[in-house]
Amino acid sequence: MITFNELNLQPQIHEAIKMKGYENPTPIQAQAIPELLVGKDLLGIAQTGSGKTAAFSLPIINHLALNPKKLEAKSPRVLILTPTRELATQIDGSIKTYSQGMNLRTKVIFGGVGATPQVNALRSGLDIVVATPGRLVDLMGSKDIKLDQVEIFVLDEADRMLDMGFIHDVKKMIARLPKNKQTLLFSATMPRDIEDLAKGLLKNPKKVEVTPESTTVEKITQTMNYLKKDNKVALLTKIIQEQDITSALVFTRTKHGADRVVRMLEKESIKAAAIHGNKSQNNRERALRKFREGEIKILVATDIAARGIDVSHISHVINYNLPEDPKSYVHRIGRTARAGREGFAISFCDEQEMNHVHTIEKHIRKKITVDTEQPFHEELTFSPRPVRGRDGRRGKGKAKAKPKKKLSMSKKARRRRSFKG
Ligand code: AMP
Repeated sequence: MITFNELNLQPQIHEAIKMKGYENPTPIQAQAIPELLVGKDLLGIAQTGSGKTAAFSLPIINHLALNPKKLEAKSPRVLILTPTRELATQIDGSIKTYSQGMNLRTKVIFGGVGATPQVNALRSGLDIVVATPGRLVDLMGSKDIKLDQVEIFVLDEADRMLDMGFIHDVKKMIARLPKNKQTLLFSATMPRDIEDLAKGLLKNPKKVEVTPESTTVEKITQTMNYLKKDNKVALLTKIIQEQDITSALVFTRTKHGADRVVRMLEKESIKAAAIHGNKSQNNRERALRKFREGEIKILVATDIAARGIDVSHISHVINYNLPEDPKSYVHRIGRTARAGREGFAISFCDEQEMNHVHTIEKHIRKKITVDTEQPFHEELTFSPRPVRGRDGRRGKGKAKAKPKKKLSMSKKARRRRSFKG
């Protein structure tokens, strides 16, 4: 395994790493840092918790230390774009820690607070700007920031950016960056839109992919509950009321689903909050704070919104809906059993989710224990998707379903339509 000493970083940076107490680079750091130090672009498939902040911050700090330059007003040398204020603050804090004693000028730029201190900092010249898209685009519009001197650009949590509807702002901003720069893109998942974005943005990038360690999964007690969809709220309520839950993260498939679960729980006098891409930043931060401080025990989230949550005391992860992608199952349940604690992962599966169980069990190479004692238990069995026979009945019939006849407009109808204009 590669050690920090083998990474060609400046001595002050090694000092800061030591002070922080890091012994060895995390896998993403070990793979990404050597490539970034020689100026390569990077496509990092990783999520919060992997150590990705240091993976990009350390080479950036190293570059700035080796290449001092007189700062120009309004023109930062490094731009880090991240979806939320919370992440921007975290990244800025990490950079300050890793660059102690180096006098780097960094600033966070996000909305919801007055712009004047940000504008003033930009005027006096900055090495690094850590920004969220909305305020950055505003400051581009008012000409308070220029991006033509950016030497390194980091697009962090690209998939979450997309989920939060920022993609338009991101593209607008990318168009203002100089051609000649080093670019790093991080995303936990690679939906088509991000893949396209990466293709246009990165030049011959080094691809680094890290998945959460499966060992964490082994520490978690996993159970599966087969039941009818309509009984899910009742079982969730029962589990929350009867089990010793310190705090639980409940996953739903959709944003609306998350809101609905919260409403249902509140009807049962259970305090809960939802976080997802449709909630305002303030709203999400408030919910997270309450969850972290134990004021609410139940947080309901979608996969992407849950990604930035770094809460160490989650006792239960409840899959109200099963994820289609088995990797998401591992990501989700890895939220519990942190820091050596015990963890429980409880999954609900209705008749339409049976095939997900199959792929999840294949992925984790383990059968999940079924709780047949719970009051809503249904005997559901996995059967491959039914094929409809020629006669329309379910079965393995070889005959393919008749292709639907293409509906084409008659000449007469077309003429009628063209008259209407
Ligand atoms: P991140 O994925 O960047 O949010 O980092 C997750 C956590 O891992 C943070 O609390 C970091 O301080 C910590 N961390 C980052 N790199 C290392 C390392 N090499 N060794 C131990 N902890 C680390």
